[in-house]
Amino acid sequence: MVGAARKRQRALTSALLVWYDEHQRELPWRRLRNPYATWVSEIMLQQTQVATVVPYFERWMQRFPTIHALAKANTHEVLSAWQGLGYYSRARNLQRSAQLICSEHSGRLPANAELLQKLPGIGRYTAGAIASIAFNLPEPAVDGNVLRVLTRLDGLRGDPRVEPLSSQIWQIASDLMDCVSPGSFNQALMELGALVCVPEKPRCGQCPVLKHCVAKQLDLAEQLPELPKRPKPVARRVVVVLAERQGKWLVVQQPDSARHWAGLFTFPYAELLSGEKPQDAIARLLAQIDAQATLDSTDPLTRFTYPITRFRFQALVYLARGVRAKQATQFRAKFAAPEALANLALPAPHRRLVGVLHSPRGA
Ligand code: SF4
Repeated sequence: MVGAARKRQRALTSALLVWYDEHQRELPWRRLRNPYATWVSEIMLQQTQVATVVPYFERWMQRFPTIHALAKANTHEVLSAWQGLGYYSRARNLQRSAQLICSEHSGRLPANAELLQKLPGIGRYTAGAIASIAFNLPEPAVDGNVLRVLTRLDGLRGDPRVEPLSSQIWQIASDLMDCVSPGSFNQALMELGALVCVPEKPRCGQCPVLKHCVAKQLDLAEQLPELPKRPKPVARRVVVVLAERQGKWLVVQQPDSARHWAGLFTFPYAELLSGEKPQDAIARLLAQIDAQATLDSTDPLTRFTYPITRFRFQALVYLARGVRAKQATQFRAKFAAPEALANLALPAPHRRLVGVLHSPRGA
């Protein structure tokens, strides 16, 4: 790196670290300062807002205070602690990784980004974040916030998520590691992206690195990064059957191979095939789980929508009484009283349906 570039880098890193010292948010994982807490927080923060994560993180650390406790926990308990956060494979991967850490790394997270990436659910970003924040190693960590900040600081045109720009940004982040504290510096970049260099209307007037920012100088701050427009969500329809027998409700545990909600309990549901009528999908669903039931009405009791990844599902919810069901095939099926449902790991859209069981037609 030539003299002028190095000088700019030094000025930029030092201005950012001073700002971070003063402006960083008080967050529970920052107070704890241990590698396990850093790892759990980083996994929870994937696709999820800080404000949502904070109570989950605090409950999680009380329930599974160490890597050993997480490794030994019942998987259903782990999924229960995660319920409502979505993307449940994150919870399953946390536990699988905890078991591997106990068996292969004497119960300690490896202080090495390459080894960290060998653990389930830990990609390049998360490995860099844990290595730098927990072990203060000079590893870059480019998440969405950092990507935006670096793209703007250097005024980079083009889609930063594709090559060659993607590698260029990781290289810029890596060059910036040449500073006193990689952990604080990476967090400072993330915090700047979260609080000041926000996606819409960046608050350049409050920015500690304004004078080093190429995008601002070129009046491009709001146009960068040049990310492609998100495609519209794909619409899908599902039928859900609230199936009752003697005041208890049929729930099934989704198999480990399920595309969504593997290992969680749900009310029986099935996606409508192309051109299929809801009644035909219900018949198919009941046959699949070895249950027999008569619908209370051919009209849905309620309907609601929910997103999963790139899909937007519309659920049509039907009520069925006097249900007979065997302990079904690939699913683990059971009847549970409404109070018992509270203790099962149900994904958020199905948990909301527990309230429907108390409504006039459901009661
Ligand atoms: Fe982002 Fe504006 Fe700061 Fe540039 S000056 S890094 S665009 S907040």
